[in-house]
Amino acid sequence: MTIKIASAVIVLNQNSVVVGRKIISVLPGAKLYGLATRTTDVDISFENFGETLRDLFAQGTPLIGICAAGILIRTIAPLLKDKGPEPPVLAVAEDGSAVVPLLGGLNGVNDLARQISARLNVQPAITTAGDLRFHTALLSPPPGYHLANPDDAKKFIADLLAGMTVKLEGTAPWLSESKLPIDPNGILTIQITEHQMMGTANSLVYHPAKIAIALTAINQPAAQTIALIQKLFTESNLALRAIAVVLAPLSLSAHPELQAITQALGVTTRFIDPDQLTQTLEAIATNGQILSFPSVHLKIAIAPQIISPQTIGQSRGKIAIIGTGPGGLQWMSPQVQEILKTATDLVGYKTYLNLIGVLGDGKVRHESDNREERARARMALDLAAEGRYVAVVSSGDPGIYAMATAVFEVLDHEHQPEWDQIDIQVAPGISAMQAAAALIGAPLGHDFCAISLSDILKPWSIIEQRISAAAEADFAIAFYNPVSQERTWQLAAAKNILLKYRNLHTPVVLAKNLGRIGQTVRVITLNELEAQDADMRTVILIGSSKTRLLQRTSGEIWVYTPRNYELGCRV
Ligand code: SAH
Repeated sequence: MTIKIASAVIVLNQNSVVVGRKIISVLPGAKLYGLATRTTDVDISFENFGETLRDLFAQGTPLIGICAAGILIRTIAPLLKDKGPEPPVLAVAEDGSAVVPLLGGLNGVNDLARQISARLNVQPAITTAGDLRFHTALLSPPPGYHLANPDDAKKFIADLLAGMTVKLEGTAPWLSESKLPIDPNGILTIQITEHQMMGTANSLVYHPAKIAIALTAINQPAAQTIALIQKLFTESNLALRAIAVVLAPLSLSAHPELQAITQALGVTTRFIDPDQLTQTLEAIATNGQILSFPSVHLKIAIAPQIISPQTIGQSRGKIAIIGTGPGGLQWMSPQVQEILKTATDLVGYKTYLNLIGVLGDGKVRHESDNREERARARMALDLAAEGRYVAVVSSGDPGIYAMATAVFEVLDHEHQPEWDQIDIQVAPGISAMQAAAALIGAPLGHDFCAISLSDILKPWSIIEQRISAAAEADFAIAFYNPVSQERTWQLAAAKNILLKYRNLHTPVVLAKNLGRIGQTVRVITLNELEAQDADMRTVILIGSSKTRLLQRTSGEIWVYTPRNYELGCRV
């Protein structure tokens, strides 16, 4: 098995940042995690070392701690159970002079140690005997090879270490180029074969990912198709573990049965134009075999070497409409961070894309003007239809005055058949009103509503009516888009409506640049509210008639709206 999650490089003090950055430079997608109180210029700041490390480990993230090995061992010890899925864990000395693989032998820790050591110009402290002697980890073969009988490997490696020689049957450069004691008359054997084969204590079997299967139609439940594939493979003496990819026409990409089939087989699917199927299979097989089972719409092509699925056709396009929170990583959900890591393309307003910082590195950026929401949605859908994984980026929550609606509007009104197969996901974020409320207490603690004061997309008459109704109903209100350079009178008009129902002393929260540089949160009264207090980066919270100020002895002011109506009424 190979770990696909990007590594986390963890530093506990500023001295280690330089070594951390060097390590990151050779590990695609890796992030530098720094202890918040002792480091700056890191990708992700954390407060609690133990929790952060254990969470990352539990998610299967390879961990590189620039700290004493003992700290890592003690922190992770409670989670150590099954070494199979355990991610690599390495300790690196603060000055980069030692690289010590600790855990994750089955998931390539030694390879990772070699990679890091090469960058730091040191020798890795590899302690795995087999790995050390033979320069290869038989238990964790490289991508494209599957060990069929891992249970036999322990004894097999022990026999090799005891001096037995091994005969190689089939081709695998990672084995033939290793330092294994290869001998045509070896007692032990390693077989590399796409055929079904039983391994034994004296014979390891690796299945190379050389088989592509093509499904051109699906007329039955997934379980039946899988059973059929199993039967055909057995009859043809082929191993299911040698399947590299399932090919299908793009029209099937949203088909749940197809997804169930590929999931059960544990392989990726690539989509191709049905007209090009035969040609593609012939190119894959190059002098090899193509088996055809027309009655079940299945073809099997066997390539002479390992197949790289990403070189064939396209993947199913995906669009993830995400909310990054108001700004700052501390308010960005792990789900959104993960999407940002995996997406190929980012679509969004320039300011929002800039908020993502390093998480956007290495992606194709499609920046646009803030007003062009529909054009942006269209572009995102077109990119996804080409098989890209597009993250459409909004600040705050994507469903609150943001891009999620724009994407659905475009999908609803413009029927483009090529958009039909796109996988769609919406990932929520913390909206400006929630961040503002949290910073000042609980002003939205009871029933509340949000109203955008922008009359670009809806007429002012509607806005007026809503403010009036909300004020009359005694909702606490969050005003979005209160003032812009072109829209300066709306806030004063809104205030006048509010004053028909609320008294002059109603608490008002002005929250500006939340989570960003220049963040301010001020509490004033409704009477004091003026257009110059706000701009496009301000969200305004208006209290209900029950909203209260709480001044602590330190002078600190908090605002809250009681939930208990009895209490609220008594005051
Ligand atoms: N989807 C966003 C809202 C976009 S509308 C969200 O859920 O927060 C844009 C308006 O949101 C701005 O005019 C402002 O009123 C508010 N806003 C967005 N980000 C903000 C921030 N960081 N600080 C204060 N207000 C913000």
